[in-house]
Amino acid sequence: MERTLAIIKPDAVAGRKAGRILDRIESAGFRVAAMTLMHLSRAEAEGFYAVHRARPFFGSLTEFMASGPALVMVLEAPDAIKKWRTLMGATDPAKADAGTIRKEFAESIERNATHGSDAPDTAAFEIGYFFAGMELV
Ligand code: ATP
Ligand code: MG
Repeated sequence: MERTLAIIKPDAVAGRKAGRILDRIESAGFRVAAMTLMHLSRAEAEGFYAVHRARPFFGSLTEFMASGPALVMVLEAPDAIKKWRTLMGATDPAKADAGTIRKEFAESIERNATHGSDAPDTAAFEIGYFFAGMELV
């Protein structure tokens, strides 16, 4: 079993797409091991995306991530990190495969509906950023 951090981003929560995205997650065989709705502060969004600090879109990305509530969760499945990124599709919805979550729900490369950890070390950092051990069920 593997765990990954997933976020239904503020665009998708505000657009009332969270229920349909959760249905896709559960239908794909993931177990939700933790989940919380939270409105990130700008500083919390900057800490989460610190690896992108030098990128030209960092200011706009963190403003977007702090723009409204997001649904932050831990997903568990065999090969969860890769499996969740495959289900999400490419970062840019214009390049995402048919049937992926971003193809169906993302508005743009920035407002792209969901987040997923990209490797075991980032998954461990991201899960620990939002959840204490006892919050993982
Ligand atoms: P995430 O980390 O959110 O799962 P990702 O791993 O597919 O997405 P990253 O390269 O890590 O993509 O970028 C993090 C986030 O920054 C993207 O999900 C998107 O919201 C935003 N982003 C990425 N590239 C751009 C860009 N060129 N312009 C604007 N926003 C971008
Ligand atoms: Mg990423």
